[in-house]
Amino acid sequence: MKIVKGGEIAARPQEKKPVSKEQARLVYSLILIFFIPVAIIVNFFWNVQKFQNNLESDLNQRAGLAAAIFAAGVSDAFDNKPLLQTKINALKGNSQIKEITILKPLDEGFEVIASSNRNEIGVIYSSLQYTTAWVENKNITAQGADKNVNPPARYNVVISPLLNAEGEQYALLNLKINLADIDALTQKALKENLIILIFTIFIVLLLLFNHLRFSEYMMLFRRLKEIDKMKDDFISMASHELKTPMTAIKGYMDMIFEGVAGKVDQNAKDHLLKVLGNIKRLDGLVDALLDVSRLEQQRMQFDMQAIDISTIIVNIVSELRRQAEEKKLKLQYQPPELPHPIIFADVDRLTQIFNNVIGNALKYTFKGGLVIFHRLEGDRLLTIIQDTGIGMSKDDMKGLFTKFYRIRNEKTVDIPGTGLGLWITKEIVIRMNGEIYASSKENLGSTFTISFPIIK
Ligand code: ADP
Repeated sequence: MKIVKGGEIAARPQEKKPVSKEQARLVYSLILIFFIPVAIIVNFFWNVQKFQNNLESDLNQRAGLAAAIFAAGVSDAFDNKPLLQTKINALKGNSQIKEITILKPLDEGFEVIASSNRNEIGVIYSSLQYTTAWVENKNITAQGADKNVNPPARYNVVISPLLNAEGEQYALLNLKINLADIDALTQKALKENLIILIFTIFIVLLLLFNHLRFSEYMMLFRRLKEIDKMKDDFISMASHELKTPMTAIKGYMDMIFEGVAGKVDQNAKDHLLKVLGNIKRLDGLVDALLDVSRLEQQRMQFDMQAIDISTIIVNIVSELRRQAEEKKLKLQYQPPELPHPIIFADVDRLTQIFNNVIGNALKYTFKGGLVIFHRLEGDRLLTIIQDTGIGMSKDDMKGLFTKFYRIRNEKTVDIPGTGLGLWITKEIVIRMNGEIYASSKENLGSTFTISFPIIK
């Protein structure tokens, strides 16, 4: 958009947006919704038509056969018209036969000499079908419909030459066969299949609508993933940006405490110490957020090497000893028996995870103390951190090791924390082929166990 004189806003002509993948998928789904039912319907009617054609062709063949049998039966009665008529009358009761007519060739056409329809007798026909059947000596089939009834009753016509014992043509047989049975059968099949068709289309439509909904969920999922990535990028960027001023503030604070900026009286020092304490907390949060984004984006580097775990824990314990003494807590470490087992890990990350778990044990313990010891289990070295702290209930433990999870009750209300420590610890442990698990009893204490494979 462009702002023109007088504060008006002039909109630029919209650029044509390219068709997105989502739109293409939607169009594809709609095409499916339209074409699949249409294909099923077309297939259905095509099959019904084929079924009817097959029946009719079968009937035609049978009519040809019937004509041949009939011809054999009447060959001796041709000269005896009453006998011929009697033979025809005998077939009248058959519901499939609509009409039987025997025609004799004359110069001007074909004369009916016997028929199941008495009115036809004596009538002379000169039709192309009769002539063709006679001249070419072959069966002619055609179809007709009796329009006097509603719906019109369809029938098949078979015109076949009658041959005597010497194989000479002597007359024509016109056999009209009712198609009512076939039509009734087709109608019945049509009705039954129509029910199945409607049911199938209903199911297919349901599936297709489900497919459409599934596509929508896919789109949503993709968008959520994009937003999640944007959030991760934002946290990563914000944490990096916060880190620089924080380091500068800490540097200046140190200089003030060293007296570089002049003498600082005790009262100001006390206040500045509180400021420093809060800055350290903020710094811890920023470090944790940076670790979260590194872990989530698989950017955390691991410099794996053979390590004697006890050297790391000895250092951590000596660093935390003063803190334990201030809280009047016992802090005890029992290194493994010699020779010390060796594990494969990153020194800094190993320090970080034990700092967090041992630090937590100190943070959430107010009487008694904590003990750290090892156990060998198969080819793994277990490090067990046991405290006599506030412990956790079964319910509270359900969310342990998840991001931003903190147990909130009257015992933890004054204890600062981010709820990120155990999640980061678990992720780092897993990436170094380790395992971590916890057990606890409320008001009695907690035990955290971290295990790593030993290098032989
Ligand atoms: P926080 O920064 O809150 O300590 P963590 O992820 O390290 O975050 O721990 C998550 C929660 O687990 C803590 O808020 C605390 O309630 C509980 N917790 C962790 N370690 C212990 C422990 N040794 N004893 C009792 N509760 C603990």
